[in-house]
Amino acid sequence: MHKKCSTIAKHFIPISRVLYSYKGTEIIPYTYKIHKSTFSTVTRGNYNSLTSKDVNFFSSLLGSSRIIQNVEELEAYNIDWLKSHKGSSSIVLRPKTTDEVSEILKYCNKQKLAVCPQGGNTGLVGGSIPIFDEIVVSMSLMNKIIHFNDTTETLENFVNEKEFTVPVDLGAKGSCQIGGNISTNAGGLRLIRYGSLHGNVLGLKAVLPNGDILDCMNTMRKNNTGYDLKHLFIGSEGTLGIVTEAAILCYPKSSDTAVAFLGCNSFQDVMNTAKIVRQKLPQLLSSLEMLDDQAADTVRDNLKLSIPISTHPFYVLVEISGSDSSYNEQKLNEYLRFLMEHNYINDGTIATEPSRIKVLWSIRERITEALLQEGCGYKYDISLPLSDFYKIVEVMRERWVKRVTRCVAYGHVGDGNVHFNATTRTLTQKF
Ligand SMILES: Cc1cc2nc3c(=O)[nH]c(=O)nc-3n(C[C@H](O)[C@H](O)[C@H](O)COP(=O)(O)OP(=O)(O)OC[C@H]3O[C@@H](n4cnc5c(N)ncnc54)[C@H](O)[C@@H]3O)c2cc1C
Repeated sequence: MHKKCSTIAKHFIPISRVLYSYKGTEIIPYTYKIHKSTFSTVTRGNYNSLTSKDVNFFSSLLGSSRIIQNVEELEAYNIDWLKSHKGSSSIVLRPKTTDEVSEILKYCNKQKLAVCPQGGNTGLVGGSIPIFDEIVVSMSLMNKIIHFNDTTETLENFVNEKEFTVPVDLGAKGSCQIGGNISTNAGGLRLIRYGSLHGNVLGLKAVLPNGDILDCMNTMRKNNTGYDLKHLFIGSEGTLGIVTEAAILCYPKSSDTAVAFLGCNSFQDVMNTAKIVRQKLPQLLSSLEMLDDQAADTVRDNLKLSIPISTHPFYVLVEISGSDSSYNEQKLNEYLRFLMEHNYINDGTIATEPSRIKVLWSIRERITEALLQEGCGYKYDISLPLSDFYKIVEVMRERWVKRVTRCVAYGHVGDGNVHFNATTRTLTQKF
């Protein structure tokens, strides 16, 4: 549907919201054909087209250096991260302040020009790129730390120096921005520990479609002074306005981390493992992820990453962090022994060195990147009670067996959130 929200034209494709993973900023070389947008059922709203008068207005507001009209440069803003969708915007505006965003939206609203806000353009459902000729308002020059406000990786580095950590941690952290994270209500790898952005965004500033600035900035943890409008912007995908500033609650960084990569023989064993780990390590647990054998095969085949334990139908990644490394390790070993004795896990390895931890994490974080190498991706982000969430994978695998190249499942088992992804060599609307 081509959603009309005042002048903010937003687009949603019918294949769910999405998640997951690749390696930070590394965007792999693109080797297959870029497909024209699949928003084939969407018709252009009754918006005006860009004229030279409009361009003159934007030039006088931003200066020509913050307007992109060059065809080659525009391409990166018109194509999504998965290379599945392509828009036809002929202009990208790069404001630096909330007031400039306000002027842009005020003008577009008056002139009936459609707009597409864009952060790091790492969204996986085509929401960040225009469908037609919408004006792209890129937030790339607004990634300044005011009191912690930036792309998450830069922000993470900044707060790490002060021994804090940012609650949202995605595989896309090298490219995505806080405004984009808020607008997609991104979950990520540490949701099990720190909760969702609804609990971690303390305040924000946003520009509404008519140019009005909504100031919900707040840095206090408790605020019970009536309606909390900021929550409307968390997950609103740019339909309500453009987020220009945010205050994020950051947490003291745990000095020591240990990661276990475990092999399970059935999904029932994955659930048993998850249950025990959650019950027994509640204060230390910072991540609880799973991947199935097909997801592991994808990173092994396409990225040549080796799986550090013997082959299993399922793998579980457990991360714990706390302030005492020997206590962490002792606790982890204790419960892994318990899991082994009960045959919930059959093999496993533990890493405590940062470089080793990175190796284990990259198997999980780079699945999206590995899938990207196989052609077209169909990504489903499903939240279901744990007891049911793998069933959907089995059913769909059976239905799609002859039609897809790969059908994989991985995700945040700690949150009951599975990423079910399939690939085909060429784009098939049926999926
Ligand atoms: C490798 C990889 C791993 C990922 N892992 C996760 C994950 O674990 N969890 C998860 O939830 N997602 C994940 N994603 C998806 C994506 O990274 C997130 O959705 C991210 O939050 C998007 O941020 P962005 O700055 O790139 O936004 P964009 O992709 O640029 O935009 C996403 C949407 O937000 C809107 N938008 C962007 N900035 C603003 C703004 N300032 N104001 C208003 N609207 C705005 C856009 O119009 C669009 O609708 C992953 C993606 C990749 C590539």
